[in-house]
Formats: sequence, structure tokens, C-alpha cells
Amino acid sequence: MAALADPRCRCASGRKFKRCCGPLLAGAPAPDPLALMRSRYSAFALGEVGHLVATVLPGSPAWSADPAWREQLAETCARTRFTGLRIVAAPPPVGDEGQVHFVADFAAEEGRGRLEERSRFRKVDGRWFYVDGDRAPEDR
Ligand SMILES: [Zn+2]
Repeated sequence: MAALADPRCRCASGRKFKRCCGPLLAGAPAPDPLALMRSRYSAFALGEVGHLVATVLPGSPAWSADPAWREQLAETCARTRFTGLRIVAAPPPVGDEGQVHFVADFAAEEGRGRLEERSRFRKVDGRWFYVDGDRAPEDR
């Protein structure tokens, strides 16, 4: 079927994976914070822990030197089915700082959930990285 031969990207962009998050997951630099955020959502959905680790700014609040960090990320990916992504706001970056406000829907053993976050990104040596984010209280 065409749907299998031509899969749409998991980040809900409606684009083909190979023209959306695919190149970023393969190591290409993200052109902007929104593209990086989408690629990180796709990485969570696909269990691409290497991409999740590589796109967090070393030393930032979201980063960890603990080897268990990778295992925790892998567990989160394995336990969670990511079911939707909505971009609330992605203003143009100001200099080397950018923000993306998003809502991600997921399902886990405990039930369905929703994560809303205002993520911060920073550009270092030509690459965008995730720094940290402010999460809205989980309301369901
Ligand atoms: Zn994508």
C-alpha cells in the first residue's frame, strides 16, 4: 500500500518522514527550533534515544551525565505511545534563542495523557539544542 511505502512523519506535520524529521534523526542540523522540537517528538515516538540525547544542550537543565539517563529515555519511549502533536506557537527565534509551545498527546499503561510545554532552545556552533521547558499542570 502507498501508506506503507510512503509513511507520513510521526510528528503530525503531514509530510513524508524522509522530507520531515527523517534527515534530522539521521544527524542533519535542524534549521530552526520548531524543526528540532518536531524531530524530538518523532524520536520519542520511534524510540530514537540517540537523537534525544544528542539534541539536549550539554550542561543544560534537561541534560544529564548519568548513564541511567539513556535507559530512562528508552523506558519512556517503550512505555508510551505518542498519539498526536499540536504546535500552539513557534515564534521566530531571537538571535540564538528560540521557543516552541506545544501539546503532545500520548497513551501509557496508566491511561491517556497530555503534555503541554513551552520549550526553550539555544543555537550553539550552528546547531539548535533543547535547553529546558515549562510544563503546564497535567489536567487529564
Ligand atoms: Zn516530522
